[in-house]
Amino acid sequence: MAGGRASCAGFGLIAMDFSPQTNLSIGDDIYQLASRLFPICRSITGPGVRETLAVMAETISLAVHDVPSGRQVFDWVVPPEWRISGATILDASGRKIVDFADSNLHVMGYSIPVRRTMTRSELEPHIHTAPDQPDAIPYRTSYYQPNWGFCLAHNRWQEAGDGPFEVVIDSHFHEGSLTYGTFTHKGTSERDVLFSAHICHPSMANDNCSGLAVLAHVAQALRGRTTWYNYHFLFAPGTIGALCWLQENEQHLHRLDHGLVVSCLGDSGGPTYKRSRQGNAVIDRIMAQVECDGRKASLQDFSPYGYDERQFCSPGFNLPVGLLQRSAHGSFPQYHTSDDNLSFITPGDLQASYRMIMDVIDILEADYVPVNLSPKGEPQLGRRGLYSATGGHRTAPPDTLACLWVLNLADGNHSLLDMAERSGVPFATLADSARRLREIQLLT
Ligand code: ZN
Repeated sequence: MAGGRASCAGFGLIAMDFSPQTNLSIGDDIYQLASRLFPICRSITGPGVRETLAVMAETISLAVHDVPSGRQVFDWVVPPEWRISGATILDASGRKIVDFADSNLHVMGYSIPVRRTMTRSELEPHIHTAPDQPDAIPYRTSYYQPNWGFCLAHNRWQEAGDGPFEVVIDSHFHEGSLTYGTFTHKGTSERDVLFSAHICHPSMANDNCSGLAVLAHVAQALRGRTTWYNYHFLFAPGTIGALCWLQENEQHLHRLDHGLVVSCLGDSGGPTYKRSRQGNAVIDRIMAQVECDGRKASLQDFSPYGYDERQFCSPGFNLPVGLLQRSAHGSFPQYHTSDDNLSFITPGDLQASYRMIMDVIDILEADYVPVNLSPKGEPQLGRRGLYSATGGHRTAPPDTLACLWVLNLADGNHSLLDMAERSGVPFATLADSARRLREIQLLT
């Protein structure tokens, strides 16, 4: 039935943009931003997150928030800040087996400092490889359990010899802060929409850079556009960063009507949408309507594993927030390896994901509950130019059919989204018909 809000006077005057995307360079711009973010060594804290936010701040004016190490955040504690300046494994002849300078995936995130000479069998438990992808470097972290490790191509480790090895991890912990970024586009109402992407993965293009870069450009696109909703963008380290934001904004969460966590937006798969915990929130219904490159999303029910929708949909919040991805995390072989690089994402796919999110915003902004002003019998559309003067057609032309659906369901109990679901007519077509019917005073 009716969606997030009732009909409101003057609402239909807000400009909608359902025109096809004409700015073909936007995908290139998004890709370029992702490329700049890619090399930065990110973790859940540390200079990489700040550097990432600084690069993104060239596209949108971000607010940067620091939460001190040691702060209690619900059941969690903000960890000490982690910095790493280098790490190597040298064999007995001084040959470099691993150098952190070659890839920031080479060291397990949050590794404690190490400086030791070790046999192969002593080192082995600290080595992570992906034997089924022997040339890829896997991604590993140990944020909350003091540990250390190296990640390297399986083939590299197989040819590393028997040692002994000189092992160095030059890392450092201190009481600093966790950093996250936000951007708010102010609307005319007091209702909120959230878009969120994690900012804690090192060099991985699809699982991190794509979401950050797409959302930065969505935020930029909202500038200069009058919206009904406030749009909040959150760029925070996974789990602990989202929890920090939830704690900081807990008193405003009752205003949050819709939300999307995004990730993996740059590959050619999907789209894939995981519903919110509520299961039938307006955002869940919208995501069943919108398309990406002409394809509707494959829909998954909520499950408590994935990205920060886990936190937004925890029972104490139960917010209407779903997860949008192209290929689902864990479903593609490049996931969490060095193969998730800039050749795995494309400008065209990033642009299609961007366009899909803009279509979501268009629906959020355009959805309302219209009322038929001539509800007794069908109004005579022919004399108003909305119905063919020649009768006898087997089926109604699409435009006419859309007008008929709008008029029939505009009983004050159906939003345009309800109508799209019931009729199978695309939302944008119904919204256009409603606009035309308003112009000839058949609809409020
Ligand atoms: Zn990930």
